[in-house]
Amino acid sequence: MIHYTCDGCGRSIDSTNEMRHVVRVEVYAALDPCDEELEDDRDHLQEIQDLLERLDDEDDAALGDEVYHQQRFDLCSECRRRYVKNPLGRVTTEHLGFSQN
Ligand SMILES: [Zn+2]
Repeated sequence: MIHYTCDGCGRSIDSTNEMRHVVRVEVYAALDPCDEELEDDRDHLQEIQDLLERLDDEDDAALGDEVYHQQRFDLCSECRRRYVKNPLGRVTTEHLGFSQN
C-alpha cells in the first residue's frame, strides 16, 4: 500500500479510507501572438518548448523556471477545501476587519 503525505499540512493520507486530492499547478509565460501569427493557430506549448530549448543553450535554469513551471501536490480533503477557496494563498481582508468603504 502506498502512503501519501499531504503537502498542505504534512499529515499522512490513508488512501484506503480517505480521498486523496491531486493539485497540478502549471505556470507559464503567456505568449500573446503577434498580428501576423493570428491566422494560424499556433501551439503555445510548442513555442514554450522552443523557448526552453534556447534557454537551455544559455544554461539559465532560473529564467527557464520563469517561463514554464510545473508542480504537483497531494492534498487531504481538508487542505483541498482550503486550497480551492484560496488557490493563490491571498490574505483575505474580511478577517482583518477592513470595511468596503
Ligand atoms: Zn492536509
